[in-house]
Amino acid sequence: MMPIQAVIGDVCRLVLLLVILSACSPPLAAAEDPSLIVSRFREYLRINTAQPKPNYREAVDFILAQARSISLEAKSFEIVDGKPFVILKWPGTNPRLPSVMLYSHTDVVPVEQSKWDHPPFEAHVDEEGRIFARGSQDMKCVGMQHLEAVRQLKRSGFEPIRTLYVVFSPDEEIGGHDGAEKFADSEAFREMNVGVVLDEGLASPNEKYRVFYGERVPWWLVIKATGAPGHGAKLYDNTALENLFKSIETIWRFRTSQFDMVKAGLKAEGEVVSVNMVFLKAGTPSPTGFVMNLQPSEAEAGFDIRIPPTADHKSLERRLAEEWAPIWRNMTFEFKQKASVYNQHGEPVITATDSSNPWWALLEEGIRKANGLVGKPEIFPASTDARYFRLLGLPAIGFSPMANTPILLHDHNEYLDQAEYLKGIKVFESIIKTYTSFVGDSSKESLRDEL
Ligand SMILES: [Zn+2]
Repeated sequence: MMPIQAVIGDVCRLVLLLVILSACSPPLAAAEDPSLIVSRFREYLRINTAQPKPNYREAVDFILAQARSISLEAKSFEIVDGKPFVILKWPGTNPRLPSVMLYSHTDVVPVEQSKWDHPPFEAHVDEEGRIFARGSQDMKCVGMQHLEAVRQLKRSGFEPIRTLYVVFSPDEEIGGHDGAEKFADSEAFREMNVGVVLDEGLASPNEKYRVFYGERVPWWLVIKATGAPGHGAKLYDNTALENLFKSIETIWRFRTSQFDMVKAGLKAEGEVVSVNMVFLKAGTPSPTGFVMNLQPSEAEAGFDIRIPPTADHKSLERRLAEEWAPIWRNMTFEFKQKASVYNQHGEPVITATDSSNPWWALLEEGIRKANGLVGKPEIFPASTDARYFRLLGLPAIGFSPMANTPILLHDHNEYLDQAEYLKGIKVFESIIKTYTSFVGDSSKESLRDEL
């Protein structure tokens, strides 16, 4: 038998060794309490960054404090006064390789407070674990998941080969003209030498995550009809309202044909041209409403039309001139906004999903490694900031990891399940690992320099 003193001595040495080991090795085992992770997300959601008066200052202070807590390099700057960007940098071991940019916007759309079951800036968690807040899907979830994924990877001792940037931008919800559009054209952005951008996607009602390689562009169309004015009791041809209604009927038939393809499952929402009437303007005003015995000489209707980059927009323009607002029916038209689906070289503004773009396969690999399922590549039905980076020729992919979640962006009672949020962090950890470890074929990455 060993003397008792020797046993105690061995135990002491073992304890000492364990203390030293745990101090030296990364605190891998000490997984963080999920409630702390969720509470940071809720803190971000409680900052009211709703347009048109977003509290950007508070959001920036919050993000900078988060960055400090995980020792990330951070800077905040404004291209347009009062519209701050935050850029967090995790330097890679090979800074010559193009970097990876994880991108999110800090602003959110306004709310109709009275239509919400829980106050939209309290981030209430119900008994099912759903976090209710404006921005819980669009897209404060993604911004915080980017940060939390970096936090976890740093804890695990992971070292990126490529430099990783986590960028928070202003003003996406009002078109990004003072945000991403100017940023994409800035020296600050050029210095980052970005090789791939991950921006926002959409929630998926089924178990497959949605991934986006392009987006529809808006054509905001106003058609105007003129015709002879006349007594409200008289039947005659060619009134302004008759002319306008012929057009509306034609446009509606087109709308139905597009929508039917979506309903039949032949095309995804982003692959068809959507047309929605957003205003009708006619009549002669009177103190009590409108003059009722007079047929007006002018009538207008406005339409929000969204065009996929893959659509034949020439034929659509022809249809507009010949059927929707024909001059022979006393019709004229103008665009309040008409974005091009093409870049300066006449090519559709889309990110390749085939082998010419290694980032696509790597994204799918990253998601799969985190046990996520991926749907087929889609066109985003509305606009995001990703278009400004795609216009530069950069691969930009829209991805918000929300499976089994109803699409509630811009809606009342927007929410995200906290378990789904936590799962999304794991997915981003896997993507960051895959992306920043990729040293592959840098010749393919120089594509944008040729554009
Ligand atoms: Zn968004």
